[in-house]
Amino acid sequence: MLLHKSAFGAVKKLRGVVVNKFLAKDKVIYSFDPVMEPVISIDQCEILTIETMDCFANQIQGVSDSFESFDWSRVNPATGPVYIRGVKAGDIVRVDILRIEIADRALMVTIPGAGALAEHIVDAERTFLKKEGDMLILDTERGPLDIPINPMVGVIGMAPKNKHVPTGTPEEHGGNMDCRLITEGSSIYFRAEVDGGLFACGDLHAVMGDGEVLICGAEVPGEVTMRAQVVDVPELPTPLVENAGLYATIASAETLDEASKLATDMMLSFLTQTVGFSVNDAGRLMSLVGNLRTCQIVDPLLTARFEFPKWALSELGFTHIGKGDSVC
Ligand code: CA
Ligand code: ZN
Repeated sequence: MLLHKSAFGAVKKLRGVVVNKFLAKDKVIYSFDPVMEPVISIDQCEILTIETMDCFANQIQGVSDSFESFDWSRVNPATGPVYIRGVKAGDIVRVDILRIEIADRALMVTIPGAGALAEHIVDAERTFLKKEGDMLILDTERGPLDIPINPMVGVIGMAPKNKHVPTGTPEEHGGNMDCRLITEGSSIYFRAEVDGGLFACGDLHAVMGDGEVLICGAEVPGEVTMRAQVVDVPELPTPLVENAGLYATIASAETLDEASKLATDMMLSFLTQTVGFSVNDAGRLMSLVGNLRTCQIVDPLLTARFEFPKWALSELGFTHIGKGDSVC
């Protein structure tokens, strides 16, 4: 068993989570592809802490650093790839996010011409936000504002099939989905396209609103503690997120309209094929208690999600994805 070398505490038991392995932030990828060389292997259910750099590979440390020395090839690093033993191509894999730790300082940038506010942004600025307890402090011209943190993982995924996808792009394999539901306590389902899955993650945000309109959240280095297991389920639209209150399908496309349609169709598929409703029952339920939302509109593809509440499913006898109880 490797010693846990976490910057956030040398102890191996963190908030009740016993960590077996640690992967340092120097092992990164800048694109997901099926022939990536894994840098660590874990067993199913084995707990791994993954250290992550911020989306700029921690290159921006001061408000006046010049972009002259900035290496643009090092944007959106994802730490990994992690080979998960026992995972075969075609398997549905559930990744549990057991813990997220973030650094005490987050970064935002304004970039003229970039993001959803592109034409309005004139001044390039870097802003550091200090974390105090569970709050992040944004200094505004009208004074400081304390914002509750909601640490989330922006880039998370597994190797895609027969292609090479930059870590800044979201697709069916996951990637830069910037979904603020991917927090501590959530689980994400992926379809493994290669043996071992080849998992990687990075781009943590201390907090982000739906849309990520400026082009960034509160970008922050940190650590993600996770475990993974194969789930015995024949069909599942992926990526799919589960938390204590809901399931959400996630889809990315060139327009938000297309991404929204895809995420909605994926939820219909989940409710009919995985849960077992008729199309019309599923449609009525989706229209009454489901919510179609935006993840982000600033990445190379845009991302939408369709959320469906668990209470409506447990009332009707559906309690979990997969045949048996989960292994871990
Ligand atoms: Ca991102
Ligand atoms: Zn980010």
